[in-house]
Amino acid sequence: MPLMRERDSKRLHIKSRLMGESLVSESFLDALEVAPQRRLFPDVNVIKIGGQSICDRGKKALPAIIDEIVANKSEHKMLLMTGGGTRSRHIYAIGLELGMPTGIIAAFGSSVSRQNALLVATMLAEHGGIEIDQDAIIKLPNYFSQGCVPVTSGMPPYDFFAIPPAKGRIPIHRTDVGTLLTADLIGARSCIFVKDERGLFTDDPKKDPSAEFIPAITASELIELGLDDLVIERPCLEILRNSQVLDSIQIINGLEKGNLTRALAGEHVGTIISRA
Ligand code: ADP
Ligand code: MG
Repeated sequence: MPLMRERDSKRLHIKSRLMGESLVSESFLDALEVAPQRRLFPDVNVIKIGGQSICDRGKKALPAIIDEIVANKSEHKMLLMTGGGTRSRHIYAIGLELGMPTGIIAAFGSSVSRQNALLVATMLAEHGGIEIDQDAIIKLPNYFSQGCVPVTSGMPPYDFFAIPPAKGRIPIHRTDVGTLLTADLIGARSCIFVKDERGLFTDDPKKDPSAEFIPAITASELIELGLDDLVIERPCLEILRNSQVLDSIQIINGLEKGNLTRALAGEHVGTIISRA
């Protein structure tokens, strides 16, 4: 990019389309042309192992998922991310009643989600399971070339800078959001949420037995429906809708053997939420 010298002050500028812009103007952003987003690791599957829905069930759910991951390891590259589950809810509840700000609540969530990453990595240790820092995501090819199964916390690292939500002080960007953002970052092959229900319903099937299963829907349609409760964190819908590299996300029941294998094989199990 050419350097330019300002006539009066003699200051040097680098000429670019962004020079002198606030980067806030809507019309500027509408007109700005950017190169298509590079897909860093398009062969990697990002898989969230639910906190409440899988990890917290311990022996009843986790070993079966681990076995399935191991069975798929030679065929599919997988980056595992973990939720926090009940222990994060416990510390959130204590923090909220003691007046903690959103950023502290978020930092609590990060540390619990890291506990589950260590748990999952340790369960996979003899098969190459390795807990990695989120900063190491850019080094994924190194881990795969050594036969590792990398595991990291799903919580996005906003921590003290978590955005205070419109209602209450529970951070809205938690481990589903962190998982989806990671999939978008690397231009992943797939983004699969392993939970404990068949997929998305019209309401929480644990509370409303008449809730109907939704096998496929677009992010915009789901936003439009305005459901009271969702199987994934609400900001995921907007993030998917804006993604330039992901076409869909999939929510599957990890309590049923074979679902993860089928999802990795590209089968429509559970719910597929597509970008458009
Ligand atoms: P994770 O363990 O991955 O964080 P959560 O427990 O936070 O998962 O979210 C999954 C749960 O969301 C399901 O087990 C279900 O009880 C609940 N849920 C709420 N609303 C819905 C819905 N509309 N469809 C399906 N599940 C829902
Ligand atoms: Mg959750």
